[in-house]
Amino acid sequence: MANIQRAILSWYDQNKRELPWRTSKNPYFIWISEVVLQQTRVDQGAPFFYRLTSLFPSIEDLASADEKDVLLAWKGLGYYSRARNLHKAARQIMEMHDGVFPTKHTELIKLAGIGGYTAAAISSISFNEPVAAIDGNVVRIVSRLLDLPGPVESAQTAKVIKEFANEILSINRPGDFNQGLMDLGSLICTPKSPACTECPLMEVCLARANNSQHLRPVKKPKKKAVNRFLIFKILINQGKILMEQQQKGSIWENLYLFPFDEHHSEEAFLSKLDLENKVLIDPSLHVLSHQRLNYAVLVSENKPPIMHGNWLSLDEIYDLPTPILVPRILTRIENQLAPLF
Ligand code: SF4
Repeated sequence: MANIQRAILSWYDQNKRELPWRTSKNPYFIWISEVVLQQTRVDQGAPFFYRLTSLFPSIEDLASADEKDVLLAWKGLGYYSRARNLHKAARQIMEMHDGVFPTKHTELIKLAGIGGYTAAAISSISFNEPVAAIDGNVVRIVSRLLDLPGPVESAQTAKVIKEFANEILSINRPGDFNQGLMDLGSLICTPKSPACTECPLMEVCLARANNSQHLRPVKKPKKKAVNRFLIFKILINQGKILMEQQQKGSIWENLYLFPFDEHHSEEAFLSKLDLENKVLIDPSLHVLSHQRLNYAVLVSENKPPIMHGNWLSLDEIYDLPTPILVPRILTRIENQLAPLF
């Protein structure tokens, strides 16, 4: 194990990525960066890290902000539940820990939205606690090092990975070691083209020895994404558009969206569209991680104001927390809408 530790730490010392949040060990910044980077690439996430930390430079600022402002700062990143949890956890830290960031993994995982990986990243990097931070990179590296044939989602394989990751962890430099593995996974042991000849673990990697690195990690087949069929309605009255805040339980909870009808089959969706004569966007596809949104967009002018919802100008809509689909739709229909304003 000592040779793996030495190899990773010395590789990290020479090759670590210069990332904006690595200039400090402040747990608040480490936390924001980790949440931003969940399911987001570093180059896409960095501007959001800057935006969030300049709007909310401290945990007190985040906790006292309106949820709407936090969602707005998050706009464009998707997965808004992460922003809601970020806000909720900031309030928990203020209320339960007097505004002081918990230092232990066991305390951190009690906060909203902080799972085992994020808790380990914060506690090891900021507080030097020896806990392995097991993300997709580490799962991939360990499953290759040990040439594991079982699906990494299975409890048995996950246990082997967790035990091994904690066994090889450096006790003296756990934060650097965890970040070393993250960087190795991003730069060398990549999902599709691992650069084994440049890898500091080349000599001890069983998958490389067995030439099975492209077969690892083994994953269970993904569940098929659900198809949804939505017709969005752009209702316009006196230059304003009706927007509705989405309810609890919706994938867009608390975000603003055009009113829409949902159809349960492609056939019903298409036959409804056949009856309409003001179709602005023909059937299109917007893919989310677990859903395929088949949608079309209709327009209707001079609607008498409806009491529920919010009648807003285009500028006001761009300033709202909305799913990314809203600005995408508006961009596509800008020219067609212009004469109506
Ligand atoms: S030798 Fe290749 S497969 Fe093994 S850990 Fe290194 S990059 Fe990954």
